[in-house]
Amino acid sequence: MPDEEDLVLIVEDNPQNRKLARTLLELQGLQSLEAEDAAEALALLAKHRPALVLVDVQLPGMDGLEMVRRMRQDPRTRNLPVVAMTAYAMKGDRERCLDAGCDDYLSKPIDPDRFEDIVSQYVQVARR
Ligand code: MN
Repeated sequence: MPDEEDLVLIVEDNPQNRKLARTLLELQGLQSLEAEDAAEALALLAKHRPALVLVDVQLPGMDGLEMVRRMRQDPRTRNLPVVAMTAYAMKGDRERCLDAGCDDYLSKPIDPDRFEDIVSQYVQVARR
């Protein structure tokens, strides 16, 4: 499966948040794939190899962190960069995300500057 260097997978159940992420990615010249839940996202990851996965922690059904744990157990997705997005903003959240296998963490509401910084960091890594 070839790397898709300009592709970012957005896993987010909230349509407005998905649209915001898609718009910010477009501004960086990136393509996006979108999934509304973890099952849909894992199915997409069986067919695509994006440069980065942005995953909402609170999803209907399997939550985002469980999805990341499963990705880390699968050789095909073990090394894909993943950034969690969460509205919790509670102490310990970052650690929970990292423990699950996320590379980094974005708190919601999304700050566009921070979003762009973090995305360009990982997409650049994938392009090396
Ligand atoms: Mn959500």
